[in-house]
Amino acid sequence: MQWNALRAATGRLRHQPRLNAILILALTALLFAGAWLLVYATGGTQRAWPYLMLIPVLLAAARFRVVGGIIGGLVGGLLLGPVMPLDTATGVAQDTTNWLIRIGFYTGLGAFTGMLFQFIRRQGRARERDARVDADSGLPNKTALLEALETDDVDRADAPFVALIRIVDLGEIMEAAGVSAADQLVTILARRIRRGIDPDLEVYRFSASEIVVLRQEDTATDGLNAEDLLQITEDSVEVYGIPVHVELVVGRAGTVEPGTSARELIRQARVALFSAIERQQTVCRYAPEQERRTGETIRLLAGVRRGIENGEFELHYQPKVRAETGEPAGCEALVRWRSPADGGIIPPDQFMPRVECSALIGPMTRFVAQSAFGFVKHCRQRISINITARDLIDQNLIASIGRMAAYGGLPAGRIEIEITEGAIVRDPVAAGEAIEQLRRCGFHVSLDDFGTGYSSFEYLRTLPLTGLKIDRAFVRDLEDDDRAQRLMACMIDVGHALDLEVVAEGVEKAGQREILRELGCDLLQGFYFARPMPGQEYLDWRQARDRATAREAAHPR
Ligand code: C2E
Ligand code: CA
Ligand code: CA
Repeated sequence: MQWNALRAATGRLRHQPRLNAILILALTALLFAGAWLLVYATGGTQRAWPYLMLIPVLLAAARFRVVGGIIGGLVGGLLLGPVMPLDTATGVAQDTTNWLIRIGFYTGLGAFTGMLFQFIRRQGRARERDARVDADSGLPNKTALLEALETDDVDRADAPFVALIRIVDLGEIMEAAGVSAADQLVTILARRIRRGIDPDLEVYRFSASEIVVLRQEDTATDGLNAEDLLQITEDSVEVYGIPVHVELVVGRAGTVEPGTSARELIRQARVALFSAIERQQTVCRYAPEQERRTGETIRLLAGVRRGIENGEFELHYQPKVRAETGEPAGCEALVRWRSPADGGIIPPDQFMPRVECSALIGPMTRFVAQSAFGFVKHCRQRISINITARDLIDQNLIASIGRMAAYGGLPAGRIEIEITEGAIVRDPVAAGEAIEQLRRCGFHVSLDDFGTGYSSFEYLRTLPLTGLKIDRAFVRDLEDDDRAQRLMACMIDVGHALDLEVVAEGVEKAGQREILRELGCDLLQGFYFARPMPGQEYLDWRQARDRATAREAAHPR
């Protein structure tokens, strides 16, 4: 528990010495004036009026608890003690027992009420503290953070360091180590931040998967870098005995004016966090130009989520043909978004890059797999689907793709998964495991956009791939550039040397097709043969193509 952070949050409850001095003076005056008035204005201590003295006694107990109650009771009792007559008219003195009992009663009642107030106040404090603590992790929560930032924002000379950290793969960690793994994980991360980075940093749990790191004064000289925070996950974290690799994204608030509100600081950190996710970075610092883009992304992702629910997405299919004969050998499924506004088609490059960086990629890939597997039954040929880097680390998704094919009664050999070279480079270990799992299900696995992702030949040798898809950038200049042809020849040879089926994408011209055929490429894909088209159109295209091939076979030229 970070008591300094909590103390800052409960700063309002600190003692206020000047107010106390004024109250003591006021209560003393009230006791003296009250005693004199009650005795001399009502005719002596013989009446019931002296019990009104209990009012300042109880007030003293309310403010100064047991001590206040006892002192108030004693003073009040004494003031109504031996010096005060029983009857002011006759001057008869009080009985000693009488005023002693009164002092005892006042003091006892003062002490009791003081205790009662103390108990109530403690309960209130405990409730206030609980309201500022996340019960599951024991860390101060969002309320505590807002208060800690607000207490200081009035006279803050230096901008505070505020960073919002999100645990990216919390879902998978919870699946592996149990639901309460999240709580243990944030506790461990908070401890690592304070022990490993700076003991003065305050760590707050902001949401189930987010923590906020705060330093009230982040001076220019010893300013903390948000990048430093990533050190805490360099070593794996052991959660309930299971070592887990944790991935973080950090968004940091920007340079702010003194007096900037707490909510604004946190909002900036969130905008920066979204920006980091969007750019596939791990750390990002707030800049005003991120606002527009983030707003756009949020709207786009909300639209995609609705679109998936409302069935606005569909698959188009682009044929792959045998280079030698031109016969259709299969197709690639490519997602399209039918705009709910005008029914037009929105191409994937306008939404997939941002979907890929969000949690929506899982549902999207499930939709693609489900629809494509449904289509395989009609087309009775191999179908390829694309999966992303993020899908590769989602073991659940990979397993469910396997189950979907099995339940659908599909021969797994009819399904090919295209994985971009970039996805493999980003996390080769996870990619290797996912590819092995996909291969165990019987799927073909092809390396997409080959030549653009800086992967090493080592991956090609060690990963259990079945195909290589050479990026269209290498096809573009084949006709005019001798070096492009030699490079293509090498790439095809590399694929064949490793027993991979080689596909060239982006074939737009007859000349390119001819060169690729001569170089021994296995399959070709591109606008020269056909553009991606809706399912029924693809089936018609193939039928027409089959008829043409049959005619050619019957009447060879
Ligand atoms: P990709 O996987 O490389 O897909 C091939 C892209 O090249 C397709 O663009 C296709 O229309 C285009 N293409 C095919 N032949 C030619 C040609 O001859 N010339 C040119 N210039 N382009 C050609 P599309 O459908 O716009 O898809 C773009 C990218 O979006 C895909 O690149 C893929 O990365 C992504 N994508 C599409 N569908 C999915 C999907 O279902 N899941 C995932 N994760 N990504 C997808
Ligand atoms: Ca592809
Ligand atoms: Ca490609």
